Amino acid sequence: MKAEIIAVGTELLLGDIVNTNAQYLAKELAQLGITVHYQSVVGDNPARLTECVKQAKSRSDILLFSGGLGPTEDDLTKETVAAAFGDTLVFDAAQMEKIESFFKRTGRPMAPNNRKQAMIPAHGKKIENDNGTAPGVIFADGTQYAILMPGPPKELKPMFEARVKPFLKSLCGGAIVSISMREFGIGESHLETIVKPFLDDTNPTTALYAKDGEVLLRITAKAESTLQAQSICAARADEVQAALGAFYYGRDVDGLEEVVVPLLAQKQLQIATAESCTGGLLSSRITNVSGASSVFSFGCCTYANIAKEKAIGVSHATLQQFGAVSSQTAGEMAAGVAKAASAHIGVGITGIAGPTGGTPEKPVGLVYIGVYYNQKVYIKKITEGERGRAHVRWMATQNALDMVRRLLQGLPCAEDVQIFCAGEPADINRHTKSSI
Ligand code: ATP
Repeated sequence: MKAEIIAVGTELLLGDIVNTNAQYLAKELAQLGITVHYQSVVGDNPARLTECVKQAKSRSDILLFSGGLGPTEDDLTKETVAAAFGDTLVFDAAQMEKIESFFKRTGRPMAPNNRKQAMIPAHGKKIENDNGTAPGVIFADGTQYAILMPGPPKELKPMFEARVKPFLKSLCGGAIVSISMREFGIGESHLETIVKPFLDDTNPTTALYAKDGEVLLRITAKAESTLQAQSICAARADEVQAALGAFYYGRDVDGLEEVVVPLLAQKQLQIATAESCTGGLLSSRITNVSGASSVFSFGCCTYANIAKEKAIGVSHATLQQFGAVSSQTAGEMAAGVAKAASAHIGVGITGIAGPTGGTPEKPVGLVYIGVYYNQKVYIKKITEGERGRAHVRWMATQNALDMVRRLLQGLPCAEDVQIFCAGEPADINRHTKSSI
């Protein structure tokens, strides 16, 4: 089944508002296994809207509209789509009563043009709106449907969830189940070559999305019952997981921290963090996970050199000789914070988030991440370039969490990681050997 999203509103065309409804609907439809081939934005203009509906109707089974259901003259979506679907609008007394009582309840005067919102399809269906005065509507033409929803997200989202989604499910027939699988440390194109054998299957479908420096893979299966769909999905997810190896980190989770915190809890290990360029982002991500208090009790933002020395014992000589942004400093931060917190694992992050502060030797985007665990310090160097301060900081925490995840799962920490242990660089060993 092919769907198309049409957002109506001149405000959208002018860039005054962002089309978050289309993003929301596209995601929801993907989860239902409904393919979206086109998205459009069209202004409040009947001729252009008619043209847009005509084109969409020539190529899609389901047309989902957002906006243009308001009471004013330029809110024309209902009238225009009704004409394209060979339907007309009739006055609905029950809807009018609902609108009047909404105004009474909210203590606002009702304008005469609100009567427009009580017009519903003669043949199609009205969709109740629990959060506003504009009802949604469904027009049908054979096996084609147009579903119209109000523009305000606080009205559209609950209407979609409670009323439109069940309708779409009934059109699809049977049950639809999705599993999302997350991967880190692999690019989208490399991952695509690994899962290529699965990409052409129609049940289950496998789709890839690049997101926040990782790849999200969604597997969706349709079957007569939920149980059957679940088992089709799970079997494919197992195959995909085996093919992806260490890059795969979790199913139906929102991020690496949601895997790392439970792993730490399961192994009864404590983690501590010392952050420089990430300024607490890593500890924030860890503490966003419910239950973090059982694994995390100490995180510090050691931004200045003096803080690195005083709070977690990074040596003055290391800072002088190698600089704050160096593998040596990252290693000492990791080992030092583990010692200060009496934690099993210490993470140190130091780098140049930019956009200023880079040098030819140490450019913007260079970050060193150190992880201390089991008498060893693992160091990873990342070079994110000038892709923005937020990106560099985010990727630093992504890599740190992934290093910890891999160590806890007994996987190679990462391909290009340096490992120091007893007998190796004295500056790092100073902590790992003598103090911990
Ligand atoms: P109303 O009954 O409030 O007039 P409507 O269905 O006519 O609703 P619009 O007038 O098009 O919808 O938009 C109302 C408001 O809803 C916009 O000002 C905007 O804040 C929000 N909105 C509309 N379309 C979108 C969209 N595609 N994405 C996000 N927000 C939107």
